[in-house]
Amino acid sequence: MKISEMKADLYCIECNDDTLHNIVYLNSEIKCVECEECNRKVEVKVDLKKEVYKEIYNRVTTKPSRISQEYKKDLSKFLIKLPRRVVSKPYRAVRYLNKARNLTKKMKFK
Ligand SMILES: [Zn+2]
Repeated sequence: MKISEMKADLYCIECNDDTLHNIVYLNSEIKCVECEECNRKVEVKVDLKKEVYKEIYNRVTTKPSRISQEYKKDLSKFLIKLPRRVVSKPYRAVRYLNKARNLTKKMKFK
């Protein structure tokens, strides 16, 4: 939520003239316009829920790219780690089998 103010010359029906007005913005929407001369205030109904939703939506839609990038990085790390772990076990198993086979061969020849 961001409130900002801007001054501008606008026509005031009370002063019947162009006077300096204070315009208050809520995010990018005009919230109220006040005549600096007679203090006539025109409030603009700002849908607060909509503004909050827009803000959350913007935050949510700008974040996923960062999240997915971090996720992709982690996933690639995970994928690098995974095959090694998977491969090292069969290799060890094969080596053990070969040893066992060699042993049985030796046993037979003896
Ligand atoms: Zn005025």
